[in-house]
Amino acid sequence: MTAQTTLEREAGIERGTDRNVSKAEIISFEPATGAEMWRGKVCDVDDVVARARRAWPAWAAQPLTNRMELMRRFANEVRKEADNFAATIAREVGKPLWEAHAEVEAVINKVEVSIRSYAERTSQRKLDSALQGKMAVRHKPHGVLVVLGPFNYPAHLPNAHIIPALIAGNAVVFKPSEKAPASGEILAKCFNRAGISAAVMQFAPGGPAEGQALVAHEGIDGVLFTGSANTGISINRRLATRPDKIVTLEMGGNNAMVMWDTPKVSDAAALVVQSAFSTAGQRCTAARRLIVKDSLYDTIVPEIKALADRLIVGAPFDEPAPFMGPVIDNAAADGLSESFLYLLSHGGKPIKHLLRPDGTLPFLSPAIIDTTAMKDRPDVELFGPILQVIRVSDFDEAIAEANNTRFGLAASLIGGTPQEYNRFWANMRAGIVNWNRPTTGPSHAAPMGGVGLSGNHRPTGYYAADYCAYPVASGEMEQPRAVIGVGLK
Ligand code: NAD
Repeated sequence: MTAQTTLEREAGIERGTDRNVSKAEIISFEPATGAEMWRGKVCDVDDVVARARRAWPAWAAQPLTNRMELMRRFANEVRKEADNFAATIAREVGKPLWEAHAEVEAVINKVEVSIRSYAERTSQRKLDSALQGKMAVRHKPHGVLVVLGPFNYPAHLPNAHIIPALIAGNAVVFKPSEKAPASGEILAKCFNRAGISAAVMQFAPGGPAEGQALVAHEGIDGVLFTGSANTGISINRRLATRPDKIVTLEMGGNNAMVMWDTPKVSDAAALVVQSAFSTAGQRCTAARRLIVKDSLYDTIVPEIKALADRLIVGAPFDEPAPFMGPVIDNAAADGLSESFLYLLSHGGKPIKHLLRPDGTLPFLSPAIIDTTAMKDRPDVELFGPILQVIRVSDFDEAIAEANNTRFGLAASLIGGTPQEYNRFWANMRAGIVNWNRPTTGPSHAAPMGGVGLSGNHRPTGYYAADYCAYPVASGEMEQPRAVIGVGLK
């Protein structure tokens, strides 16, 4: 099996799916133990869409302030449920409990951010127009929006679409990842307990087949997707002849960190380790490639390795708390191990091997490999704790190497002068370009999206309001007033 094969597999049936979905049921498993976690029926797509269509007009007709108030009640429901919610996320996707708590906090914080963002980006505006009339710009919801969630942030990332979509007056059909339905169910229940009906905000468990059926359904008005590039491309292709549907694609990355001159070597190493290995490398913004100035290599790389050696890999509830947990399932661990072997057998030099202490569980150690000598480095997203290191001699080469990808999600420059950062910023093709900050952990107050294969120019985060409603321009006067000034007999 090769890294290329891993990519091909991503293009076809999603990893682990066979285990998670049968015709009638989906089942999720705890990555850290292999134990069954959640089992339930897949949704009936026609029913789900029909319910949403019936419920949508009344929801859209509610005053905006009511919908905002309901979102605040939702935040309170999440607060009440916070411990159970975090424990469920931690068990279901294997992330450390402290990190699952941070995810729940992000779910709560999304409410106020989305209210501010709706007001700023899609509020009503009145403009003066010719002939003393008024010009108004107001926004309308699209209708029924399908939200397709990924497994790695099973609550926060779908929620980042759901709240702005509901505030704008859309009905939402939420299909969580088949690997994390329990987390998705708690999220949906918090909305429903807050008073948003289970028809306006529907939980629709299922796998890729249900995802495809929802995307293709005549009764939906758009798809808000977060997941892999291959799935995103297939959704885009499916809706290529449907300009009437809004399609938002938040996809993966092959993100670069460029390491340049800095006196703060241990801080620089910490930024790299944080970016590459948080969430066991299962973040869309994780650093996959470290591009290092040749003369710094012997100082910085051993420092990064030494820090990575100290990271605790463990189960979510272990004490002392682990830095990172397992990857999502054994199929993902197999694919990553095969990809690491591919890099090794095609000229990669190991700095820190990818180890899997127990072949029956998906715990992987952080791995670092120098791929400078590889001729054709596969430009794929290896969604796990593997960092490739590439040496370069000058800054132009560093920028060219960082841009040497079809993706364009996140990039960071560590060290360097303000002038070098200006060059980096101006030349990097990515939706997030940072300086002396990790590639991960995007701000809620900023747009979040990528270019290339990372997104379709509809960033989420603070800009989610933009794709949840469309602007209507209206010229308005209380009485008709018009004369024909020229061309009359
Ligand atoms: P995935 O693409 O396998 O699945 C995402 C969702 O799409 C799931 O709900 C799945 O059931 C559904 N799906 C799968 N095939 C489908 C199809 N053909 N049609 C319709 N729906 C389908 O992604 P994943 O493995 O759950 O998540 C990891 C990926 O998500 C990584 O590539 C990561 O980079 C990306 N991601 C991106 C962002 C971002 O904001 N850009 C954030 C998190 C994760």
